[in-house]
Amino acid sequence: MTHLTLQAVTKRFHTAFAVDHVDLAVPDGKLVCFLGPSGCGKTTLLRIIAGLETPSSGAVAFAGRDLTHVPANQRDFGMVFQSLALFPHMTVAQNVAYPLRLRRVERSAQARRVAELLELIQLPHMADRPVSQLSGGQRQRVAIARAIASSPKLLLLDEPLSALDAKLREAMQVEIRLLQQRLGITTIMVTHDQREAMTMADEIVVMEKGRIAQVGKPLDIYRNPVSEFVADFIGLGNILPVTHDGGDRIGLPGGQQIIVDAAPRANGAAGEVRLLIRPEDVSMRAAVASPGPNVLAGKVTFIRDVGASLEATIDCAGFTLTAATTPRETPDLQVGMPIFAELPPHACKLIAARTAH
Ligand code: ADP
Ligand code: MG
Repeated sequence: MTHLTLQAVTKRFHTAFAVDHVDLAVPDGKLVCFLGPSGCGKTTLLRIIAGLETPSSGAVAFAGRDLTHVPANQRDFGMVFQSLALFPHMTVAQNVAYPLRLRRVERSAQARRVAELLELIQLPHMADRPVSQLSGGQRQRVAIARAIASSPKLLLLDEPLSALDAKLREAMQVEIRLLQQRLGITTIMVTHDQREAMTMADEIVVMEKGRIAQVGKPLDIYRNPVSEFVADFIGLGNILPVTHDGGDRIGLPGGQQIIVDAAPRANGAAGEVRLLIRPEDVSMRAAVASPGPNVLAGKVTFIRDVGASLEATIDCAGFTLTAATTPRETPDLQVGMPIFAELPPHACKLIAARTAH
């Protein structure tokens, strides 16, 4: 079932399109991330869904009902926006209980719910503190607890974790995801962090300049990006300009030829084409006598070894490749070493080059 639908939703500020004809169906019970660089229209689109912004044209519907002109306070959606809008003079517990009080939930049920939520956000000992005394990260967690207190039908989150330090942020990503799954609450979260989107989302909506560039499951988008923009935004990638005459061979920038499995994507056939190969698909082998097909001779120029993973930059005469592995798999790797990099045909994707704007 589809709960939230957007139809040709457009928002113009003066002459500029912040959101440009967005069609989208958000499935019931799923977590969907709006992902894209700063200024691509994520917040504007979320504010239109929330009812805080009126679209210039297009329609928003929820559970079959047209909401386009329904005010925000009548939509029954939970929200956490970049400006949290907590009540600074109230305590943590009072802030979290606020939506319950508005709905006249019985006092003891309020107290139980608040205790449960404070446990969840790991602030049970802070219940009686005014929020003005909390750190930015703690306030963020209170805002999330408050947004879900009354079990809204749709939860809207605009970069809710951006103020948190890396460790807490990663922990909260898991917490929010587990909570969302347990409650089955349909959630839309805006983020510019592709790792966060991949960690949390059932579906990712990649946005570029007010438009949807691609919608799909995180791994599908990662493995099969439709364009250079998406490939570049989702994960680390080697993206190389290549020549391609329609067959199964492509020419690399250094003049080397390799074989690719996949036919070029239809949308890439006309214009310029790029080769995408993810670092984890590039395998490194000691340079020996005769390399086979799809094996390139190169030299290691940099090693980023962070213990759990290792990335090597390989100079392949004419271009560089990044290969990802683990220190355990390649214990003898050293800068300056000659190396063979293998690009398996099935891992080589041809994508449409980014068009100049
Ligand atoms: P994001 O959240 O992806 O960073 P926004 O939705 O905030 O992007 O902004 C999209 C575009 O719309 C930007 O170019 C921004 O400057 C513009 N914009 C957003 N809100 C307003 C506004 N109230 N008035 C004029 N321009 C706006
Ligand atoms: Mg924003």
